[in-house]
Amino acid sequence: MSTWLEGKPLAERMKAEVAEKVSYYKDKTGRVPGLVGILVGENKSSQVYLRSKERASQQVGIAAQILRLPADMEAGALKAKIESLNRDENVDGILVQLPLPGHLDPLDIISVIDPAKDADGIHPVTLGRLLQNQAVLKACTPLGILELLKFHRIPLAGQEAVIIGRSLIVGKPLALMLTNENATVTVCHSKTRDLPAVARRADILVAAMGQTAFVTPDFVKTGAVVVDVGINSVSDSGIVASLFGNDAGRLKDLAEKGYTLVGDVRPDVFSKASAMTPVPGGVGLLTVAALMKNTLQAFIRLKGL
Ligand code: NDP
Repeated sequence: MSTWLEGKPLAERMKAEVAEKVSYYKDKTGRVPGLVGILVGENKSSQVYLRSKERASQQVGIAAQILRLPADMEAGALKAKIESLNRDENVDGILVQLPLPGHLDPLDIISVIDPAKDADGIHPVTLGRLLQNQAVLKACTPLGILELLKFHRIPLAGQEAVIIGRSLIVGKPLALMLTNENATVTVCHSKTRDLPAVARRADILVAAMGQTAFVTPDFVKTGAVVVDVGINSVSDSGIVASLFGNDAGRLKDLAEKGYTLVGDVRPDVFSKASAMTPVPGGVGLLTVAALMKNTLQAFIRLKGL
């Protein structure tokens, strides 16, 4: 019997814990954590993600603000803006929503954020601390994945974990976190030879590559735990039918929104896995909950609480 590793119960619990602490510190100090999300340009998905981060902040009592900046903003001006947020006492967390327009180098921009305010957990200092197993703030998506695995009591120590994708925001920090939890970790990428064979070694298989339904049952050992990080928007009704048949929810998505969200894992992997995260409703919800947790942590540290 396979089970779905739903994100919602844990995301709600994490947010409730943050809300309780925010309210406690508000009573004690008269202040609440402040979070600023920077949006450069008008990328549609980025706007959706930032709105969901703003909504979650409102839910837990964090004062959130989205700073909307023009797509042609120059690097110097953007960095100056971030530096002024670094100095702003009311701001505890700063995140730059990726991707940035092509003329801006994301690594260069992110490195300007004060590491103490690095709500997304991807500043070079934060990643270095993770390497030392000393991080307070942690990359949100990997942190959410780890919390989800622990919540569902998936054993980690001694387990073979295979991660497909080596990005700085997902694959690499997740590899460090799982290593810190005593898993044996393999990181795969586009140059990996015989990917299905490597993936089949996994007790825990994480797909974070941004390729719609790429991981088929052939990649999965029977009984493996599968974490699907991918978020791909699919509007082709033929592809949707080939993946989901006549699934009423998917057809409704297509009719109402013109697209449905599909992970990097084919839905028919579910019956071969012992457990699998759904898309939507899995890792994405936890990324936002982890951001709330990081912002609270940053506030506690910055205010010396
Ligand atoms: P990136 O594009 O930065 O990285 C993708 C990685 O996958 C790269 O390492 C790339 O290899 C590897 N890859 C791509 N194609 C293949 C292939 N055919 N075979 C093997 N490896 C491959 O992506 P992100 O890490 O930013 O995001 C990955 C996915 O996760 C996306 O769908 C994104 O939308 C989603 N995401 C979801 C989040 C959530 O909250 N659920 C948060 C962040 C991302 P190489 O390095 O060799 O190019």
